[in-house]
Amino acid sequence: MITERELDKKFGLEVADRYGGEAIRRCFSCGTCAASCPVGRFDSRFNPRRTIRMVLLGMRDQVLKSDFVWLCAGCHTCSERCPQGVHIPDIMTALKNMATEAGYTHPTLAKQIDLLKDFGRVFEVEEYDNKRRVKMGLPELKLRCEEVKIILDKLGVNS
Ligand code: SF4
Ligand code: SF4
Repeated sequence: MITERELDKKFGLEVADRYGGEAIRRCFSCGTCAASCPVGRFDSRFNPRRTIRMVLLGMRDQVLKSDFVWLCAGCHTCSERCPQGVHIPDIMTALKNMATEAGYTHPTLAKQIDLLKDFGRVFEVEEYDNKRRVKMGLPELKLRCEEVKIILDKLGVNS
């Protein structure tokens, strides 16, 4: 239960001011994005239409403190089909940035930073992967990219 006094009317405007958020107020809640979203098929908590509605209603804490904005895979299936031209993945990115600025980060972000520091990418490449790449005529990849760790350290990025 949430009362009107708890709503932050400026929240929707702030999101609309962010890159990619400009079209959020055009959403007329048709649900095409929710019906198309592959993540929603696996986790019913994730529903882009509901997230946009919550933003426009001003439910700042409920959106920024939730972990469902972090589930967006950025696949663009929704924005390709949205009849109103709403850039939903960009809105999700804006919400992730706002959540991080407010001090709410998802544990998966820390894990991704650890992977970046360890391997220079968010996944591990093994000798086996390189053997397959060579077979396919592709160049081998470095198993570790120390340069990325140096850049992250210089930027003061910690998990
Ligand atoms: S498809 Fe577009 S207009 Fe329809 S609910 Fe999603 S964001 Fe809103
Ligand atoms: S970009 Fe995000 S919200 Fe849109 S369909 Fe893909 S996972 Fe769902």
